[in-house]
Order: sequence, then structure tokens, then C-alpha cells
Amino acid sequence: MSDFDVDLFVIGGGSGGVRAARIAAGYGARVTVAEEYRFGGTCVIRGCVPKKLMVYASHIHKDIADAAGFGWTIPAASFDWPTFRANKDKEIARLEGIYTANVDRSGATTLKTRAVFEDPHTLRLTNGDLVRAAHILIATGGAPNHGPIFPGIEHVISSNEVFDLPQLPKRIVIQGGGYIALEFACIFAGFGSDVTLVYRGDNILRGFDEDVRKHLRAEMEKQGITILTGCTVTKIDKHGDEFTSHLSDGASIASDQVLFAIGRHPAVANMGLEKAGVAINPANGGIAVNEFCQTNVPHIYAIGDVTHRINLTPVAIREGHAFADTVFGKRSVKVDYSNIPTAVFSQPEVGTVGLTEAEARAQFSHVDVYMTNFKPIKATLSGSESRVLMKLIVDATTDIVVGCHLVGHEAAELIQVLGICIKMKATKADFDATVAVHPSAAEELVTMRTPTARYVREAAE
Ligand code: NDP
Repeated sequence: MSDFDVDLFVIGGGSGGVRAARIAAGYGARVTVAEEYRFGGTCVIRGCVPKKLMVYASHIHKDIADAAGFGWTIPAASFDWPTFRANKDKEIARLEGIYTANVDRSGATTLKTRAVFEDPHTLRLTNGDLVRAAHILIATGGAPNHGPIFPGIEHVISSNEVFDLPQLPKRIVIQGGGYIALEFACIFAGFGSDVTLVYRGDNILRGFDEDVRKHLRAEMEKQGITILTGCTVTKIDKHGDEFTSHLSDGASIASDQVLFAIGRHPAVANMGLEKAGVAINPANGGIAVNEFCQTNVPHIYAIGDVTHRINLTPVAIREGHAFADTVFGKRSVKVDYSNIPTAVFSQPEVGTVGLTEAEARAQFSHVDVYMTNFKPIKATLSGSESRVLMKLIVDATTDIVVGCHLVGHEAAELIQVLGICIKMKATKADFDATVAVHPSAAEELVTMRTPTARYVREAAE
């Protein structure tokens, strides 16, 4: 170890890298973390956190609309984007400071620099300094995909730029049908923008439960969001401040911004991986790792989005923690990737954990589905057309609830707690034995008694 400048060099100061650095330092390792942009990474600086603040800001529009039915007269409300943006930037800067301070407090050293491999143990910093490390953790995350090159692609913004727009677009075209596209479609619709979502497939949120996909699409359309499916943007013209997006089906749409949210790719380029001999996983383009996040070079590890497996902040944090426990805490810890709850912060939110109905049917011979679609109490007076969807998928042979899918207010909060039940292998009988909390929307989860659908796989199948 003494031949090395540090025991651990972490490349990337996002959520995963910072967690790994802090835990490793806590075990007494000499740790340096390098971050070329801002500590906090995608989640804190231009992802989950500022996005959630935008969700809150845009949702107030609906709260104001709901208020009239409850007797409130609210004078015409207006939203000031620069005020919100400044407040949001202040909060993000505060969090960035906390991230850096937490690393410093752990005893690890922070460096604002890019770090690229010179050889398997050596990193070259932007100022030319070389650092030799016994272990190296790659936690560089990912970046937005730009998609195919076509005329006018330079006019497209990604989720990197969307947080810092100089002004709120009156009209926006968003391409994509996944997490980011749907979250921003709802955010801008809440701010009063005219939103058109362009998605190449037959329905949004591919991979989610079919009923969730249908329900969320209907809810978004009720809010006036135009959803065009089965087409893509093929060309963009700019005339003054206005853009015209030409679609593959021949249609064209005028807007003030065009946002693409068409997936993210692992940040593996130009970091000298070939000099270190680190292999890429040909299946997904991320760094190839084993169950301990170890690459093919035994002292080099990779965690989080750069491995392009489950690209969620809490997963990266777990992987960073498990890495530090394994390598510096001398106890082998593997991350359990089963039943990870997740939420799409659309409006209404989607919360999901476990198997979709289709996945359950493929896996189990007998599947019961319990589903309810209802108008929440609040909508009676507010006049909102919004409806809630709740769906439980049960392996009827064991009675274990193997999937839970929600679309509705606070679905993200609910699915975090339901995730514990699913993780503990709660049965439908456990749900039934739980007394309802009344009046709540969530009480439906423990009061559904009759299966909406019962699937029994034929012996011949
Ligand atoms: P997603 O993978 O969720 O969605 C990408 C979307 O873009 C899909 O609808 C996909 O279509 C479409 N698409 C892909 N390539 C093209 C193309 N060339 N032309 C047109 N459409 C295309 O990615 P996001 O960018 O929304 O988010 C990236 C990741 O970040 C997510 O997968 C998630 O892991 C994470 N994230 C998580 C959040 C959360 O937890 N709330 C929030 C935001 C991001 P198709 O379905 O047909 O492949």
C-alpha cells in the first residue's frame, strides 16, 4: 500500500462515489474523490432534486384550481420562472456544499478536476499531476443520449439544459416516453405550457404494467398534454425564436423549445479505460462488473449509471456502500437488486414495485389480479377529473403479493412503504388482515377482496 499515494481514488463525486468515499474513509482508508463538474452529480445538480422542486412548483397550479370547489377565491395567480429558478439554484448550491462538506468531514480529500487513466494504477489530473492509487472506483454516471443526427438536431435541448432555461417556453415538444420525458411533460403542462409529447412506440412507459401505461396516458391527456405515438422527430427548422419539428408521419409542430429525453448512456468516453485495460459490457455499453462491482481489473471497481444496469440514485448509493464494506471493511456485501421500488414523478405520480401482470403470468401458473380505479374524495368537491389506479398482483399458489402498481397522488410515498411489504413477501391475506385507514386512498389496498382477473395457465402451454 505504501507505494501508492492513496488507498482509494474515486472518479466522480455523485451520490454513489461520495457514499463510497465516505464509508471507505470511515474504515481508515486514504481516499481522494475527483469531480470535474459539481459535487452531488446528476441527482443533486441536474436530476432528481431540481426536478422534484420543479414538480412541486408546477403542481401548485393544480392545487389552486382545486381550491375553488372548497370555497376559496384566489385572485389570478401568476408564476415567475426567474424567481423559481433563482431559489432552486440557491438550494442546489446549498446541497452541493453539504455534499462536499460531508466528504471533507469523513477525512477524504475532494478535488475539482477531471481524472483519466494513465495506466491501471495511475490517474492524470487536469493540471498534469499524477496520482497512484491502490484501488480505483469509477463512478462517473451517465449523460443524455442525443439520438440520431438529423437536420436541426443542434436546436434540441436535453435534461442537462432544461433546468436553466432563460424563460419558460409557452410551447414545448418533448420526445421520449420514459421517466424524464413524462416528468417534464407534466411539469411544463403544470406551468401552463402547451406540451406535445412525441413517442416512437405504441404507448408511453414501455416495460411498466399495461394498466399503468394506459391510466397515466389518459390522465396526462385529461390535462391537455398532446401525446403522439408511433412517430419520431426527423427534422427541426428554426425561424427566429420558433422551432418547427417535422415528424416521421408527415406532421409538423411549432414550439419555443424542443426537449429530447430518449435515454442516457454511461460516461465511459475519454477516460483512458483502454490504458487501464478495463472492459466494457458489450450488451449495454457500460463498464462490465461482477456481483461485487469489480471490473476485469481486480483493483478497479465501477458503480452506478456508468455500469448501465439499474440507473437509480439509491441503487448507486447501495453499490458504493457495498463496495466500501467489501474492499475496506473486509466483509463481502452484495447489493440485492430484487423488488426495487421506483416512482415516476409524473402528475399524477406512478409508483411501482415487483412484477407487472404480464411478468407474473409468465412466471407463475396461477395469478390473481386485484385492481381498482376510483375518484378520490378530494375530487368530489374540487371537480378534478383525475382518477387513481391501484393494482396488486398475487401469486395465487403461495398467496404472496408479487407486484404492486399505483397511479395517483403521493404514489411515490406509498410505494416506498409498500416496497417493504413486498420485500417481506407479504401475502394477500396479510393485506386483508390489515385494518383500513379511513378515509384515505390507500385503504383500497387492504379492502380489495374479489380478483379483477384470475389467470390459470393451461397445462398444455
Ligand atoms: P428511459 O429509458 O426511461 O426512456 C427513454 C425513452 O426514449 C423511451 O421511451 C424510449 O423509447 C425513447 N427512445 C430511446 N431512443 C430513442 C430514439 N432514438 N428516438 C426516439 N425515442 C427514443 O430514459 P430517460 O431518458 O427518460 O431516463 C433515463 C434514466 O434515468 C431512466 O431509465 C431512469 O433509470 C433514470 N431516471 C429515473 C427517474 C426516477 O427514478 N424518477 C427520473 C429520471 C430518470 P422505447 O421505450 O421505445 O425504448
